[in-house]
Amino acid sequence: MSSPATPQLTLALSKGRIFEETLPLLEAAGIRVTEDPEKSRKLILSTNDPDVRVIIVRASDVPTYVQYGAADFGVAGKDVLHEHGGAGLYQPIDLNIAKCRMSVAVSVGFDYENAVRQGARLRVATKYTETARQHFAAKGVHVDLIKLYGSMELAPLVGLSDAIVDLVSTGSTLRANNLVEVEHIMEISSRLVVNQAALKLKRERLQPILEAFDRASKANA
Ligand code: ATP
Ligand code: MG
Repeated sequence: MSSPATPQLTLALSKGRIFEETLPLLEAAGIRVTEDPEKSRKLILSTNDPDVRVIIVRASDVPTYVQYGAADFGVAGKDVLHEHGGAGLYQPIDLNIAKCRMSVAVSVGFDYENAVRQGARLRVATKYTETARQHFAAKGVHVDLIKLYGSMELAPLVGLSDAIVDLVSTGSTLRANNLVEVEHIMEISSRLVVNQAALKLKRERLQPILEAFDRASKANA
């Protein structure tokens, strides 16, 4: 028996909120994912459309898969795209999903205004070193950036840093850890990203999906 041909289109998604919030957009394009990534260990998921498959990758790896054409298109947060830089990616649509904000936070009682004004070096822990570097450089604030991969909220509590740069939605994680937001860097939502070569070579198959995503995401605006 021959194995089924590789589907024409590969969509890169990350598990969790991006996967969940992309499902209704896929539905609008007539595409249903037929396997649940939370239940299966499979990283390649089929859909009801034999032309379309979904691959499950780490959120911060989505731009890389699309940039190199291993996925034709994907969904990634603006936070992730800002860190990646966006090379090789066409970003046609703000999907208005996974909305939050990128902020600077410090421990309650830390005099941030004064720390920034004094011209002393501020120690900033973050997963988003490129975004943080640009933000503080634009303000003329000298920073020592400490790269972390998670649980940023812990850093100021144990003296690893003065401040963190992280995503905030409700603020409840900050409050639970006695931290306060002192600066708002940018609004975050997820974008559709498309491989530039795929956009030309697979236009006929991609275009209707992009249009359906565009229409459906306007409802989230
Ligand atoms: P991992 O959990 O594997 O380390 P991650 O933390 O980047 O990766 P998620 O927490 O699923 O993965 O976040 C994926 C994307 O969702 C982020 O890149 C961001 O754009 C968005 N996001 C993250 N946190 C929130 C939030 N609290 N509210 C809304 N959107 C968020
Ligand atoms: Mg996470």
